[in-house]
Amino acid sequence: MIAVEELQDIVGKDWVVTNREQMARYLADETADAIRPKPAEKVVLVKPASAAEVAQILKLANSYKTPVFVRGGGTGICGGAVPIADGLLLSTERLDKVIEVDKDNLMVVVESGVPFGNMLKAVEEAGLFFPPHPGDEGAHVGGLVACNAGGTRAVKYGVIRNFVRGLEVVLPTGEIVNMGGKLLKNNQGFDLMHLLINSGGTLGVITKVIFRLCPKFNNSGTLVVSYDHRHKAIDTVPEILQSGIIPLAIEYVERDVIEISATRLGMKWPATKGQAYLIVILIGDSEDEIYSQGERVSGICERNGAIDILIAERREEQADILKIRSEVYSSLKSRVADVLDITVPPASIGVMMDKVDEIAARFNVQIPTYGHAADGNLHPHLMVDLAERGILRQVKREIYQEAIEMGGVITGEHGLGVIRLPDLDLCPDGKIWELMRGIKMVFDPNNILSPGVGLL
Ligand SMILES: Cc1cc2nc3c(=O)[nH]c(=O)nc-3n(C[C@H](O)[C@H](O)[C@H](O)COP(=O)(O)OP(=O)(O)OC[C@H]3O[C@@H](n4cnc5c(N)ncnc54)[C@H](O)[C@@H]3O)c2cc1C
Repeated sequence: MIAVEELQDIVGKDWVVTNREQMARYLADETADAIRPKPAEKVVLVKPASAAEVAQILKLANSYKTPVFVRGGGTGICGGAVPIADGLLLSTERLDKVIEVDKDNLMVVVESGVPFGNMLKAVEEAGLFFPPHPGDEGAHVGGLVACNAGGTRAVKYGVIRNFVRGLEVVLPTGEIVNMGGKLLKNNQGFDLMHLLINSGGTLGVITKVIFRLCPKFNNSGTLVVSYDHRHKAIDTVPEILQSGIIPLAIEYVERDVIEISATRLGMKWPATKGQAYLIVILIGDSEDEIYSQGERVSGICERNGAIDILIAERREEQADILKIRSEVYSSLKSRVADVLDITVPPASIGVMMDKVDEIAARFNVQIPTYGHAADGNLHPHLMVDLAERGILRQVKREIYQEAIEMGGVITGEHGLGVIRLPDLDLCPDGKIWELMRGIKMVFDPNNILSPGVGLL
């Protein structure tokens, strides 16, 4: 085992923590209590301030074959940042500089421990726009890349992967490598950068990221469309997309959960009618463009049974609606045993929702469900009563099975982490997992980086 003094020589005395109480908040992430993995007993927390320090730590760990777990903002919801074996927990929080907003190339260069909210602020101050918006702005930039986070705005712009142009990565063996750059085209060999995206801390420690940016849009409008039944709401979504309008976001939420989030925040959910809602965010260059898109979307919603449509135009009103939506998980968390992340082909989302309802009825449980409707990405919430009745895993696996039969996957944006691995037998393409294990061996021959995370 590495001596504490060896780590102190690299990062300085103040940045190595051995006291369990002092590191308590680092030993958990935002995974629901009922299924969050337990942290190991002998963990040393280390906080490097540069890629060079990360490299020295990994070289040392590799020579001792000591496991290293990587932690960004700790907002992950599949247990990936929890140190599940004795070893080091490497926090990237001191890699916290926004290095450059390059307006000419429309790129931002950031260290990986920069909180997402800080990066958004720097980009906004430069008059530019970073489209993806996974829900928790406390996530770190490196964590967003390591998880290939999605979020509400993937409909129009795609997920984090679509915006990564370059990475600085420290390999488990201690070498620092650069992949990509401020480039829009790069065919120089295999695209290793895209292997690192969604590698969940298993192939390397991301220390710097270059993201592509967009010009700012001038206008936006947010529609809250009310329905009396979830199926009418969901059935509207493919029709909106087929109309040629691609909204920034189309979110699906239900009254029960959205009211809980609004109340917790001391805010008011603006819709008074209905039980099920679509939140449709439109962007464009002019007010006229928003108005015309809004008219067309409203027409489609009405034809599909919408009973009320509110249009928020003021920036603060729109931000409030998004805030209430973003905080749903945090509001429900104490009552949730597992939040699923199934993703099916977008046109199958209505059928998937029916299957979730059938399963809920058969087991006589409530399964609140919301999600990124236009991406085919749903978050059915399995509540604690399922765990108490001993049926949590059975219900989960039945939902997974239905998603897989539709050509879907068991995680669309949160990742496998630790908590999704026991159900990978439902996704039995053996050769795929064998190839992934082979890639892991090439990057990490001693299996020191996040062992037990993301791969069986
Ligand atoms: C309220 C709430 C809303 C959310 N909404 C969304 C959403 O809409 N869409 C979505 O996709 N996710 C969402 N998430 C999940 C979470 O925010 C994302 O998964 C995010 O990418 C995690 O980033 P993090 O920095 O907190 O990572 P952590 O939780 O610290 O770590 C997550 C994983 O990434 C690895 N990792 C972290 N940093 C690095 C690094 N520098 N190098 C290598 N590996 C690293 C860790 O080892 C771990 O495996 C939400 C979470 C919460 C709590």
